[in-house]
Amino acid sequence: MPNFSLLQTFKNASIAKKLYFTVGIMALLIALELFTLGFANSTLSSVRAFINGEGLWSKGEKDAVNSLHKYARTGNEADYRLFLEFMKVPLGDHKTRMQLIKAHPDIDSARQGFLEGRNHPDDVDGMIKLFTRFYSVSYIHKAIILWTAADSVGAPMISIAAQIHNEINSTSPSQARIGELLNQIDDINANLTVLEDDFSFTLGEGARWLENLVLRLLFCVALTVEISGLLLTISVSRNIQRGLNEIIRASKSIANGNLKARAASYSRDEIGQLAESFNDMTTQYEKSIADKNIANESLKDYAKKLEQSNNSLEQFAYVASHDLQEPLRNITNFASLLEENEDHHLDPKSRKYLNFIVHGAERLKVLIKDLLLFSRLGKQHIVEMVNFNDILKIVLADMNLLIREKDAVIRLGHLPVLAASKTEIKMLLQNLIGNAIKYSKPNVPPVVEVNAEKQENGTWLFSVKDNGIGIEEEFKERIFVIFQRLHNQDEYSGTGIGLATCKKVVELNGGTIWVESKPDVGSTFYFTIPRPART
Ligand code: ADP
Repeated sequence: MPNFSLLQTFKNASIAKKLYFTVGIMALLIALELFTLGFANSTLSSVRAFINGEGLWSKGEKDAVNSLHKYARTGNEADYRLFLEFMKVPLGDHKTRMQLIKAHPDIDSARQGFLEGRNHPDDVDGMIKLFTRFYSVSYIHKAIILWTAADSVGAPMISIAAQIHNEINSTSPSQARIGELLNQIDDINANLTVLEDDFSFTLGEGARWLENLVLRLLFCVALTVEISGLLLTISVSRNIQRGLNEIIRASKSIANGNLKARAASYSRDEIGQLAESFNDMTTQYEKSIADKNIANESLKDYAKKLEQSNNSLEQFAYVASHDLQEPLRNITNFASLLEENEDHHLDPKSRKYLNFIVHGAERLKVLIKDLLLFSRLGKQHIVEMVNFNDILKIVLADMNLLIREKDAVIRLGHLPVLAASKTEIKMLLQNLIGNAIKYSKPNVPPVVEVNAEKQENGTWLFSVKDNGIGIEEEFKERIFVIFQRLHNQDEYSGTGIGLATCKKVVELNGGTIWVESKPDVGSTFYFTIPRPART
């Protein structure tokens, strides 16, 4: 059997549907209240019409009695006709009552009766409804009984009046007889007055009872509207608040570092769906953080391995550069002798090979010179106050030829005076600016900017920015390892020692070096030199 619950269905409905439902229920109850009000109003107005009708009935009856008295005094036929005219009012109401007590009354005839009773046409239908629908309600029932009694008490009036009329029109009218008949009329009138009073009193009481009933009914309906509206609103807003509070709690917990925190979902409405999406998002985030941690670990491993291989390479460089120097010197010397000595007539092929030997030996010389400088780094680390602006001027003067050849633009910021090793800083700037010019894009003149700014902690941050070929993300660490080159000699010549030298220099002076770069856009090499320790 499906686990169906009305409350659960309501909970899972969308917020918009919940609000429509709440407003719908309120509207329904208000419509019910208005209907009750309309019904009560028309019923009360019919009761009022009945009381009014009774007034007309009494007035008609009293006027008829007065006209008959006048007729008895004057014998004027017009007064007798007036009596008959006034009697039409109670007779009309009588006609209606006789119709309405039938099982299937003729409503048109009943309506006609009330109109003859001089009731207002607008009131007639309401009065008929009140009679038929509320017949068994005690007050109405009692009033109808009184009305019936009045009809039967007043019924002989017409025949008595006819007797008076006959007596007056006889050849010798008897005043004693006429007086006797008038007395009968007066007795009937007195009895009717009592019944008329009772009728008015009963209907008045009925009207007050109905008023009270309607007031209570309206009060109950209004109370139901208020309470149900309030309960529905509280329940809907509580559910929304509860769901949102749960999401806020979970997000705060995540912000505090608890990535396992999740928001409970209490329903399947928008808030429940939000909680579920939030949880999915958190799961994804947790997973990506875990993946990142793994990547970080492997990056650290990789950096460690690079460091180790760097150390062994440095070791090798130191030994090799020493041992290679001597044989290399012999090769270059003898090759030069061969080249210069005119006694040796070398054929073109031999001369070409000799050229290769000379060039190879020259490259090897540069390599060994760089290697030696590299391997000697730190051996004579003399720290003094170094004006970086002055060093830069010397470096640029040395590179003048290259700068002109490449049409390079150099932009310089103001550099500080700091405690460092002068020769090392010179090598550092030489390498970085040299590379910035060398690794330019074909046919694009290099633009190099050298700047320095003081960090909040007092350390100086230097930058050497170029608009060159840039470096792929994956090679950003590797280029600082000795002999690691990204291009072959035909593209860009070099030894692969420059950046390893820079790294070593910066570290010897207490700083760090790194690069930020975008292929085809350019690179910026950053290095820091800490402020001198206070003595
Ligand atoms: P090299 O003698 O080859 O210039 P370096 O150690 O100075 O050796 O540089 C290592 C490698 O880093 C270079 O071969 C080059 O591929 C890359 N590199 C260095 N500086 C730059 C730069 N400014 N722009 C692009 N690539 C560079």
